[in-house]
Amino acid sequence: MSCNEARAARAAERAAMVDQQLRRRGVRDPRVLAAMEDVPRECFVSAELQGAAYGDHALSIGEGQTISQPYMVARACELAQLGAREHALEVGGGSGYQAAILGKLCASVVSIELIESLAVRARDALRGLGIANVEMIAGDGTRGHREHAPYDAIVVAAGAPTVPEALIEQLAPGGRLVIPLGEDALQTLTVFRKSEHGLERRAYDGCVYVPLRGAGGWADRFN
Ligand code: SAH
Repeated sequence: MSCNEARAARAAERAAMVDQQLRRRGVRDPRVLAAMEDVPRECFVSAELQGAAYGDHALSIGEGQTISQPYMVARACELAQLGAREHALEVGGGSGYQAAILGKLCASVVSIELIESLAVRARDALRGLGIANVEMIAGDGTRGHREHAPYDAIVVAAGAPTVPEALIEQLAPGGRLVIPLGEDALQTLTVFRKSEHGLERRAYDGCVYVPLRGAGGWADRFN
């Protein structure tokens, strides 16, 4: 049985995760909650970890990387405030799970993953679930992706020392950039909004993401 065919078997676990880890912690956006209840997280991890898919934590996806904790995915997607007709960029595609959630919230998503083998696996997982509005690209996301810019929202799924300039440039007017900013071991989920008055900045949850690498990230420090 494919992961997609088996997804009904974990519907109760998915609903409990949404209730206990998201609603109870203050995630309110009904579209985000519905997307989190719809997308099977177990289809984005290896077979051995599927039983742990709804735990309140990140899980290994190989190559030293992780699929983010469900709460952080929901929180970042909520802060992106995506409308159904909007266009989003994700930096740090990893397993493809957050890209799938973003795909439920807006019209189209470009996701960039630095590690090619992860991008290939993420693409397979998305295809297996019939998610067709997410394009997973291998490359350095700190440069953004000019071809499909500008973006109404950009969500960075790795911890950055500073904001990569290209991402600000590729934000549409009114666009939101959600990015964990700070040290390699502790960051603050931060939202930048591009308005006619310039960039507004607000800090939200403390968080721990894997480091953003590449030209606009921690460069080679973690390679
Ligand atoms: N959103 C992912 C989370 C993956 S963890 C998910 O839902 O599974 C963050 C990912 O960012 C890792 O896979 C890592 O390889 C990737 N990454 C780190 N630096 C990057 C960069 N400069 N460009 C693109 N991806 C990057």
